[in-house]
Amino acid sequence: MTEQDAKRCGYVAIIGQPNVGKSTLLNHLLGIKLSITSRKPQTTRHKVLGIKTEGNAQLIFVDTPGIHQNRKKAINRIMNRAAESAIRDVDVIVFVIDRLRWDEADMAVAEQLKAVGTPVIVAINKIDRMENRHTLLPLFETMEQVLPGADVVAVSALRGLNLDVLEQAIAQHIPVGEHMFPADQITDRSERFLAAELVREKITRQLGAELPYQVTVEIEDFENRGNIKHISALILVEREGQKKIIIGSSGDRLKKIGQQARLDMERLFGCKVMLNLWVKVRSGWSDDERALRSLGYID
Ligand code: GDP
Ligand code: MG
Repeated sequence: MTEQDAKRCGYVAIIGQPNVGKSTLLNHLLGIKLSITSRKPQTTRHKVLGIKTEGNAQLIFVDTPGIHQNRKKAINRIMNRAAESAIRDVDVIVFVIDRLRWDEADMAVAEQLKAVGTPVIVAINKIDRMENRHTLLPLFETMEQVLPGADVVAVSALRGLNLDVLEQAIAQHIPVGEHMFPADQITDRSERFLAAELVREKITRQLGAELPYQVTVEIEDFENRGNIKHISALILVEREGQKKIIIGSSGDRLKKIGQQARLDMERLFGCKVMLNLWVKVRSGWSDDERALRSLGYID
């Protein structure tokens, strides 16, 4: 067997600051909606594993929550730990940056990457809506200085621009090895997890700027009856006021959240879904590691 015929398998971490487009990129590379995206930062609180098998190569993507500067809140400390261990254990790191924003926080991430020594590909994202690509030259030069030797690729995760080039760059770093998952498996996440993520995404979308990220979703019940999945989800908020906001006047907002989440679930699971949503106040959980542990955010 030649080197080219050999099976390959490797881990790819997609890292970068909140809102640069990591989830969008992962979804586009996988060709299916697995990771939840939104206009608000910090929506991906869990590490999502997406698997892509193409020909001889299997790529296992780890979408880490960004590396955060604010270590005050417990939840941010946990996200940092998750991100740090992720970048150590992978074969290649895709460092996503926003073409319009290279700042000190990005610089801090770059320093961390250099220290870890894992191969890095810089993906300069959001190059759609750009008239002149020459405006990227200074950023390419900065990358050459900050991360010498790293591949730099300009892409649009949203429009799928240049992602083939990015995939080729990733492939260079995938070692020869047996596949870890069957070729048709796309995630190791449970349907329960994906259902909860979809509800959370709809909440974030519905509320826009009205609510930060102190909302969590727990699946209370997940049952297959015949060809229909019966799902009950509990939405936990921090304050009574937030509960009112999510429910909306005469329940119209919660109804919309439920309808949209249900449609996405039916598409993802390929069957009919009956979805029940409840909202409950759990005070102060986002700053309490014990509560987080009980909710499954820490192993
Ligand atoms: P994450 O926090 O890094 O996972 O970022 P998301 O994937 O959730 O994306 C944040 C926002 O940026 C969303 O509104 C995306 O639609 C948007 N976005 C992502 N990629 C692109 C892109 O290539 N071009 C543009 N214009 N917007 C993008
Ligand atoms: Mg994300």
